[in-house]
Amino acid sequence: MSITGRIHSIESFGTVDGPGIRFIAFMQGCLMRCLYCHNRDTWDTHDGKEVTVEDLMKQIRAYMSFYANGGGVTASGGEALLQIDFINEWFKACRAEGIHTCLDTNGMLRKYTPVIDELLENTDLVMLDIKQMDDDKHILLTKVSNHRTLQFAEYLAKKQQKTWIRYVVVGGHTDDIESARALAEFIKPMSNVEKIELLPYHELGKHKWDALGDEYQLNDVSPPSSDTMEKIKAVFVEMGLNAIY
Ligand code: SF4
Repeated sequence: MSITGRIHSIESFGTVDGPGIRFIAFMQGCLMRCLYCHNRDTWDTHDGKEVTVEDLMKQIRAYMSFYANGGGVTASGGEALLQIDFINEWFKACRAEGIHTCLDTNGMLRKYTPVIDELLENTDLVMLDIKQMDDDKHILLTKVSNHRTLQFAEYLAKKQQKTWIRYVVVGGHTDDIESARALAEFIKPMSNVEKIELLPYHELGKHKWDALGDEYQLNDVSPPSSDTMEKIKAVFVEMGLNAIY
């Protein structure tokens, strides 16, 4: 019997989660609890819809020409690594058909079993979210420690895995120079990191919290100004890092 995964949704023409035009599978389930989560409805690991690798491949093949020129597929979420065996099989199938693969992850990997190495071999690009370097602040923002994420970043560096780091700039949580500098210092020695994407916090997912009857705690936080984004970007650029937003 073929392996199945649980997905929240599919986007056939994604343009913000990796290079080019991409087929994006938003996997169901996440163990972080980010205050700004815009996919609040992906958290429950039992929810979503069950699919096979072949189900996804059929949908991808229908629009293959769009993904050919610099695009590909992205496993996003929720948290894709919670379904590592499925993602590994899916990426293997994509590789067999010459499709670029991107893993969008919060890096909260619990166990380093051989399947992670196999998955990374089948992954062209990792997009790793690092939410906050200070663990106390990380816990306030996500309800969990950053230890696993930072360990995963170091693992990617050791393996020289091509990686983009993503950092969400949230007022009162991550928009200060000190937080940005701590992240820049952590990334600086990592020659596998090609780019740092700075993502301004937005409120677009708030309605999902409301729909689930959950309290959205960032009601008083506004999206960062372009001045703030420039200030944060400068911290990375001054350290010789390639940061964009
Ligand atoms: S890691 Fe992503 S999906 Fe999970 S809670 Fe945070 S923003 Fe939401």
